[in-house]
Order: sequence, then structure tokens, then C-alpha cells
Amino acid sequence: MSTAADLLRTAGLPLLEARILLMHVLGWRRTELITRDRESLDPDAVARFEALAKRRLNGEPIAQLTGRREFFGLEFDVTPDVLIPRPETELLVELALESIADVANPRVLDLGTGTGAIAISIAHARPDARVWAVDRSTAALDVARGNAHALLDATRTGGPVAFVESDWAANIDPSLLFETIVSNPPYIASDDPHLAQGDLRFEPRGALTDDADGLSAIRTIIGTAPFLLTTNGALWLEHGYDQAESVRELLKARGFTNVRSMRDLAGIERCSGGLFTA
Ligand code: GLN
Repeated sequence: MSTAADLLRTAGLPLLEARILLMHVLGWRRTELITRDRESLDPDAVARFEALAKRRLNGEPIAQLTGRREFFGLEFDVTPDVLIPRPETELLVELALESIADVANPRVLDLGTGTGAIAISIAHARPDARVWAVDRSTAALDVARGNAHALLDATRTGGPVAFVESDWAANIDPSLLFETIVSNPPYIASDDPHLAQGDLRFEPRGALTDDADGLSAIRTIIGTAPFLLTTNGALWLEHGYDQAESVRELLKARGFTNVRSMRDLAGIERCSGGLFTA
């Protein structure tokens, strides 16, 4: 009979990862791994843990194995159809929230929503915000809708998040205007070796790379956003560690003002944005 202590020791995984998978399989809290470490475990649970550990050793992301990832204090469902929310993307949420801090009932658009992490975190923090979230992937929209349903109060004054199947803003009603547009688009260049490493191998390629120089989605969004922004509306974009200067130049060339980049917790210029005054 195996115990939790046995499984953690023999999994062949970093201890933290083995703990996460074991808590997931057993439905235990972290403290139970300590207080119940000598209990004999149900053989089914042991088999399920061993199967997950094997998949992890083969490289599958922890978030896909557990189907969950925490972001901005909320637990999101994750599937192989969506980008796994990253901690650095919380900066984008903070910048969006800052941009609407003084606006009542702000309208916010999230382009390429994936799990819905950005749109839903904004909607959760600002119950009066009216939030639209688009993705061209119907599978991603299904995941995002499920997350919105699970995480947002049905009675929030801004109403439900509106999910729209759209390639960037193509299907957004042109009569709508937004105080803030946010996006974490695919920004990895097609020849970047990172695409063949770690979690990225298991995530949807279309969420990671534009299959070009890494800036083509960003160019499209910067080109279109002015048509959809209120006077002095804000656009904030996440981008790669070495793209801040290029993104600032694109924003300025399109006529954005107050253009600036902000650093993530690792000190990397991770988001750039500006205001558009028609
Ligand atoms: N931040 C992700 C990574 O570098 C990429 C996500 C994206 O392209 N938007 O792993």
C-alpha cells in the first residue's frame, strides 16, 4: 500500500510539482499532505497520480494536468485549447483597471481572450464594467464562457461578459466604443526556439506566435484600436521582453499619446500602451 509520502518521494518530479498533482488527485489541501502522510491510499488514486506524473515527465504543463491555474486571485479552468495564464499578465489587468479607475460603467474590450483570464479579472474587480471578450477560437470561447459563469456574479451591474467570435476586432459592432482595449496577443516570432521548449509545446500555437516576426498581431491591433476607442481611450498590450521599443514606436506612429511601457515583477518591460485622442 502506498502513502502520500511514498508517492512524493518516488514520483521522479520536483517536490512542488508532485505535491500539486497529488493534492489534485486526492482533493487534499497542502496541510493534509503532512497530517495524512502515512495513510494508505486508494489504489485508484495511486494509479491516477502515477499516470499524471508520467505525463508531467513527458512535459505536459501542470495547468493542463490539473485543468486549473490561479490568476489575479481567481481559479481558471484551463484546457489545451487556451494559453495558460501567466503571472506577468496580471500587470496588464492592473494597467487596465488603472485606466478605468475614474470612469463609471466603463466599457472594456479584451482581444484574444483565451481562458478569459484578463476580461474576467477586470469584470470581477469592477462589477460596473461592461466587458467584451473576443477570440477567433470557438474552443477557447467555450472555456472562457465556462470561466465567466463560474467566477462572475450573475447580478453584477455591468452584466455578463459578452463573448464574440472574431479575428481581432473584425466582428465587433463598429458603433461600439470602449474606454479601454487590452490584449495579450501572440507575440513570439515564428523562429523563436522557445516555441519548442517547456509548456509552450503543449499550448495552442496560434496563441503564442503570429507565424511571422512576432509583431504582426500587435500591428493589426494598434492599427484598428483607434476606431474603437472613446476620446482619450486607452490601449494596453502585453508583448515580448525585447519588443517594448518597437511597440512604443508603433503606438506613436499611429497617433497615440502618453505612450509608455511598464515593467513586470521580473523587471522586464512587458506591457506598453497609450491614449488615443481622436
Ligand atoms: N508570455 C508567453 C511566453 O513567453 C507568450 C504569450 C503570448 O505570446 N502572448 O511564454
